[in-house]
Amino acid sequence: MKRPFVSAEQLRHIVEEHPTPFHLYDEAGIRKNARRLNKAFAWNPGFREYFAVKATPNPRILQILQEEGCGVDCATLTELLLAEAVGFSGREMMFSSNMTPFQDFAYAYGLGAILNLDDISDIDYLERLPNIPELVCCRYNPGGDFSLSNEIMDTPGEAKYGFTREQLTTGYRRLMDLGVRKFGLHAFLASNTTNSEYYPVLARLLFETAVELHKETGAEISLINLSGGIGIPYRPHEQPVDIEAVGEGVRQAYAEVLAPAGLENVAIAAELGRYMLGPYGCLVATAIRQKETYKHYIGLDACAANLMRPAMYRAYHHITVAGKEDWPCDHVYDVVGGLCENNDKFAIDRPLPRIELGDLVVIHDTGAHGFSMGYNYNGKLRSAELLLRADGSVELIRRAETPADYFATLELPIRK
Ligand SMILES: *Cc1c(COP(=O)(O)O)cnc(C)c1O
Repeated sequence: MKRPFVSAEQLRHIVEEHPTPFHLYDEAGIRKNARRLNKAFAWNPGFREYFAVKATPNPRILQILQEEGCGVDCATLTELLLAEAVGFSGREMMFSSNMTPFQDFAYAYGLGAILNLDDISDIDYLERLPNIPELVCCRYNPGGDFSLSNEIMDTPGEAKYGFTREQLTTGYRRLMDLGVRKFGLHAFLASNTTNSEYYPVLARLLFETAVELHKETGAEISLINLSGGIGIPYRPHEQPVDIEAVGEGVRQAYAEVLAPAGLENVAIAAELGRYMLGPYGCLVATAIRQKETYKHYIGLDACAANLMRPAMYRAYHHITVAGKEDWPCDHVYDVVGGLCENNDKFAIDRPLPRIELGDLVVIHDTGAHGFSMGYNYNGKLRSAELLLRADGSVELIRRAETPADYFATLELPIRK
């Protein structure tokens, strides 16, 4: 059974001061999970998790992760500015962008971030920088299908990211000619997988490729970046990934592939987003309307503009009605928002306890790719974000938008 990290009683207190809807984050959970990840990779002295800022771009969250020893992975100028405002700099920052404007590269370079090139043509941009960085990382796309235990996880051949295998060799040689002294290798080949084999299999692929590149070009490989993709159990019957087994699997591949080839001081990097934050956030909303037609609808004061994943990917998000955690789920509802879009449904045909107007509804696992994918369709406004501190207190870490925020980019009144 899945229970929220916040009790019904705590929630009733919180809503006295902070109106719904809001995203709530669990500081204790975030810290505990980050420590566990760092421990699972402690065998690698250079290991660093670069949190994917796009998953939860809130400075307070980034600060907590920084305190736990994490860096950041940014993809745009704005994400770089956000991370810079928190105090990240230099090699605590990975810049894993694609289709990158030169301005963004130049800013990342200025901060001393590790540049993770997505394409061989990015090398032309490097030549325009004031200096050539000592360390450059390249993103690899092996093409074809990517399978784990005979299951196709994703189709890199259809993905827009990364260098082909041949381009890696050419690219490394060109970068060496330009004066790059140390190299990284990155790949992201499966998304939201709870299969503990993912990182070890990916690591082996990258380690073998790194050894080949080292032999072909003489390049010194100092960083292997396993990127994001480790998933979380969104559904009640799913099991979380065994992160200790993941760390151990990568260690074995390291010992079997890198060490015998004499590549022994390679740092492992990760750019996890979902795994770091997903379970440690929830969207709290109030049931404001009921409707009985061909189906039984519960209307919330939140909508897909606050959490896009169900509408966009038909993603499952578990729902708990606060205070009714142990009631029988003897009603079947579509739980919906108020957008003029029929995909604005948090749950379809979901067995739940009887819901009354005014009930607080907790939508689980919204800590990553939740608030951050929000938008303003139908003039819906972005919600607040709150942090449930380890001591039980609550901190407003982003206020809710008001209509004035929506109007701020417009020229009004209209000049005639
Ligand atoms: C989105 C993204 C991540 C994070 O992905 P998760 O699925 O949240 O772990 C990491 N690296 C890159 C380059 C990404 O685009």
